[in-house]
Amino acid sequence: MGATGCGKSKLSVDLSIACGYEAEIINSDKMQLYRGLDISTNKISIPERRGVRHHLLGDLDPADGELTPADFRDLAGAAVADIASRGKLPVVVGGSNSFIYSLLVDRFHPGSLRYDCCFLWIDVAFPVLCDYLCRRVDEMVETGMMEEMADFYSSESWPGRTGLLKSIGVPELEWYYKMGKFETDNKKRSVYEDAVRKIKENTCRLAERQVGKIMRLKSGGWDLHRVDSTDVFRERLRAEDEAEEEEEELVMMTAAAESGGGQQRRKSKIKRRRQWVEVWEKEVMDPSVKIVKQFLQE
Ligand code: ATP
Repeated sequence: MGATGCGKSKLSVDLSIACGYEAEIINSDKMQLYRGLDISTNKISIPERRGVRHHLLGDLDPADGELTPADFRDLAGAAVADIASRGKLPVVVGGSNSFIYSLLVDRFHPGSLRYDCCFLWIDVAFPVLCDYLCRRVDEMVETGMMEEMADFYSSESWPGRTGLLKSIGVPELEWYYKMGKFETDNKKRSVYEDAVRKIKENTCRLAERQVGKIMRLKSGGWDLHRVDSTDVFRERLRAEDEAEEEEEELVMMTAAAESGGGQQRRKSKIKRRRQWVEVWEKEVMDPSVKIVKQFLQE
């Protein structure tokens, strides 16, 4: 569990590979259940899944409507049973608090759980996470979010895709895509900038709400193991700032940018990734593996 953007998907795959059992992952993020808007909903990509099988990730048709927590309990419960029947370990990652709650509680004794669970909560200090999330929105915009939203709105059937209508980006960009083509460029730009600002705000708000709900589960007695990933995010942000500075330097040295620039960029990128991955392994992976292995031995 954890707020949007905190690294749950990466941790679930890393743990599935490292825990010593064959594991399969069940997504419990309300928006990632549906086909479409892969960038905006931040679905883990196929290479990042590293061969670990995922369930309920992009499997549903958004035109079939919003899933209720009870529907999710049935679907995800069936996935848990299927995975366990094949002798594998189910790893639930996400997401929506009401879905996780509905899947895990005992129907007749809501204070107890219907499975033996090991809970991991990745936490990131809010200002650091928020900083990262705002940059993630910029990155999403650069890597195709606007194109997928334009596709979404260009289909006549979009109002019927009720499963995705609340996904962050859809309501915020509605006005932008509905604006007449005769609007001035200035007007279009200001509506667009406003939408991106709202997407950032709403993403941070979502993260804050999600953490609040996780803390309520913890104080309600769920034995959540908190793993602090703040240093990983500090390192990632620092590395990005450094990359930007380096890029500026490279652009200034035009000759270098033309000849060895590409190679230097690649090398620096690898070095920077290695730096934050080291912190990830020490601060997040090692304690998580320890917690999960101990749970599996009990
Ligand atoms: P809960 O399940 O905790 O009762 P909820 O019904 O508000 O809360 P959340 O999973 O917290 O469900 O999602 C709330 C809203 O946040 C969604 O309706 C959507 O607007 C947005 N949201 C959640 N996950 C994503 C995502 N992956 N991509 C885009 N938007 C999302």
